[in-house]
Amino acid sequence: MAVLAASLSHNKILVNLPLNSTNHLWMTKYRRLLRVHCTRAVKEGDMNKKKKFYVLPMFPYPSGTLHMGHVRVYAMSNCIAQFRKMQGFNVSSCKIILIIEACNDFYCRLSIQWVGTRLDYQRKMQLWKGIMIPSRGLTVFYINFNVKLLNINSNIDQMRTQLINLGLDFDWEKEIMTCSPDYYKWTQWLFLRMFDAGLAYQRQALVNWDPVDQTVLAKEQIDEQGRSWRSGAVVEMKFLRQWYLKLSYYADTLLSGLDDLKWPEIVKQLQRKWLGKKMLVEFEFYVEGNQRIGEYNKLSVCTDAPQYVYGATYVAIALDHPFVSAVLENSPRTIYNKELEFPLGINVVNPLNGCSIPVYVANYVLSDFGSLAVLGIPGHGGKREKGFAMKFNIPILYVLDGRECLVNSHQLNHVKFTGMNTNEAAKAIVRYAEKMNFGRYRKLFKVSDWLISRQRYWGTPIPIIHCDYCGVVPVPDKELPVRLPDYHNASRSKSFSLRNISEWLNTSCPNCGRSARRETDTMDTFVDSAWYFLRYLDPNNEARPFAKASVNYAMPVDLYIGGVEHAILHLLYARFVTHFLNDFGYISNKEPFACLLTQGMVHGRTYKTNSSGKYLKKNEVEFSANQAIEKTTGEKVAVFWEKMSKSKYNGIDPQDVVKTYGADAVRLSLLFKAPPDNIIYWDEETIIGITSWLNRLRKMVADVDSTKPNNTRAKVPEINYNKLDKKLLRATHQAIKQVTYSLEKAFTFNVAIAACMKLSNILQDIPGEVAQKSTQYVESLRILCILISPLAPHFASELWSDLCLKREIGSSHILYQSWPTYDDSVLADENINLQIIINGNRKGTIAIPATATENEALLQYVKESRIGQELLRDKVIKKIYIVKHRKLISFVTDV
Ligand SMILES: [Zn+2]
Repeated sequence: MAVLAASLSHNKILVNLPLNSTNHLWMTKYRRLLRVHCTRAVKEGDMNKKKKFYVLPMFPYPSGTLHMGHVRVYAMSNCIAQFRKMQGFNVSSCKIILIIEACNDFYCRLSIQWVGTRLDYQRKMQLWKGIMIPSRGLTVFYINFNVKLLNINSNIDQMRTQLINLGLDFDWEKEIMTCSPDYYKWTQWLFLRMFDAGLAYQRQALVNWDPVDQTVLAKEQIDEQGRSWRSGAVVEMKFLRQWYLKLSYYADTLLSGLDDLKWPEIVKQLQRKWLGKKMLVEFEFYVEGNQRIGEYNKLSVCTDAPQYVYGATYVAIALDHPFVSAVLENSPRTIYNKELEFPLGINVVNPLNGCSIPVYVANYVLSDFGSLAVLGIPGHGGKREKGFAMKFNIPILYVLDGRECLVNSHQLNHVKFTGMNTNEAAKAIVRYAEKMNFGRYRKLFKVSDWLISRQRYWGTPIPIIHCDYCGVVPVPDKELPVRLPDYHNASRSKSFSLRNISEWLNTSCPNCGRSARRETDTMDTFVDSAWYFLRYLDPNNEARPFAKASVNYAMPVDLYIGGVEHAILHLLYARFVTHFLNDFGYISNKEPFACLLTQGMVHGRTYKTNSSGKYLKKNEVEFSANQAIEKTTGEKVAVFWEKMSKSKYNGIDPQDVVKTYGADAVRLSLLFKAPPDNIIYWDEETIIGITSWLNRLRKMVADVDSTKPNNTRAKVPEINYNKLDKKLLRATHQAIKQVTYSLEKAFTFNVAIAACMKLSNILQDIPGEVAQKSTQYVESLRILCILISPLAPHFASELWSDLCLKREIGSSHILYQSWPTYDDSVLADENINLQIIINGNRKGTIAIPATATENEALLQYVKESRIGQELLRDKVIKKIYIVKHRKLISFVTDV
């Protein structure tokens, strides 16, 4: 601490300097401190002794510049981290380490994010328009892409500098990049463990195929005419062997695990909906004539109405059901988009009556319900089923009589349950099916397995080798990572597919040594981001993806902060991977993120001409009589708020505002402007208000007399000191309570800042003369500095050093101070009025201290009071009733 003390004593009082330059001064000192403060590794001893807190913001995409949304999310996570450190939580695992994902896949990342609504897609398209959409031709796209890819490293450097300039408390020695082989080696390890467990598998999947570009397209990448948005070619449906992770295996625990998470209800709802659970009855229908089709000789067929099973006249199946690929593999054909519904040419047999019914590919069967084939009962089904039956001339049968009971008929072929009502029939049919072992109740989930195959260069290579003799052979662990070939080799091929790089593709089989081929699919980048929070805890481990002890100690993430747009995919995938690692004993925690905070966006003011809808820059607009008009034309301009964007000229570069106002003022403004999950409507007025508050605080500290308070309180009567000291003490404890609650439980940073402002206002109102002599005044100011330090660390450091010079309030830096605690008895109302009732008659009230909560203490006050002395002294008290919440005490005495 000697170095620190020396640097503090050389600090000058900086009242007249603008905030930004002081920030600059403190930035250097503070950064040095942070390095010492947060780069300690987790020590074995700490794990036993100290509580831990793991706060984590989602990582940025390396676009090159930070935007205000980034600043917002890091301001929050840094604030919580600093607060928890001061509360005594384990600093080293309380790190907020930043991942900058040099996403090695522009294209894949986009395509996976597009798996969403149409709207989502359009928004993304707009966002990336500058990079990808200028023409349908390949050239422009690729040129831009190359430039972008080569820039990723310099983008990371640039962003790192910006983050450092914000004074963010990141442990830079623990930076990880998911595109680095040091990292993706372990992503491949993870894949292989899933492969060993049978949870990573390959199957035929029907994909949208761009025949020109030789690549798979996401649904959202096909325009209304069925053409590829990029090559313009008519998209075909094609069967390809694709790699899947068996997400559905954990569907049940992923669903039930949601209940215990402290997540926004809306996010949990979205996850529940995505996972989707249903109880259905499953029957096994054998393929007619005991045929075998691929691996199938029967089909699992489901229904939610088993009572009508006799009326089934077809089976409907989704186009990407594995059975469909098995059938079509036998008789290959290319399927075009328009042809999504057709008879498969296969019949299956209803086990209840032996009737043979056809299998159809039907649009209405959600492919989401993975392996599901659905019983078509048009007689008793909805409009969809009736419509489908009519379209394909499928018979429609009815199984009920006028009393809603099962009937027998020739067509239905001997109903065994004739005469039963539908309820009875449903139960009896399932019982019978269970007994005969061809049917049962089954819990079904809507969520499908995770298709991770991408046919692109940029991504983590799937560590698999295909051998003509041994089949699918996993790459041995000791040969990991399977590195991507040199980028320039990849760029030779137009489609960037690994398939075209023969020196990489051809290898030898680890099993038999014969020549073999590498798997050319790469993984969806969401696999990389589904486990990074574990690697963070032990990022330099070369022998393992992470040390089990460190992970078991630090997990789960106590607070995860990020955008609500990741509510489904990223969070679901991260949970899936954690469930898997837990299930197979690699970690002890099942859930990755105990508490989730979703932050809102930052919007900027836009100006748009009424007639053409053209966006204008702020300096192209002038205001007269509350109306905005375009300077050059005089035309009226509409003013509103929109998501910040370059094309709308409403983006604010954090670097500019930091330069003008200092990092702390920017951080405080973002935290103060709105609760974390609300949209922020950014304007400079907020930051101006914050700046003036900070300057007032600085003046208050500057005004503190450096002579110590003494006992000669000459001019002010004693009573005033006591009263003001008490008031200050109470206000201080109120502020501690509020700020603590806001940062610990509610994450209402805005309320915390308001509480600090309230305390500073009370301090400011204390007459100067009293303030100079009051010890409580300086104590309150000291606590105020600590309260604002997680919110505005540089500024608080400055105030603290100034205060340290004047009064002996502590020798170490503010970062090392303990978080203050509050005392409820100080906060309670000083006195309460207690009503006294004797033998049913109200006798008056007495004032007693609010701290007197015990019955005996109450009684003592009553007895000592004037009423007690007069009316109770000579009586025998038979009964006493105390009704605390009504502040009432009642006596029954002898008369
Ligand atoms: Zn082999």
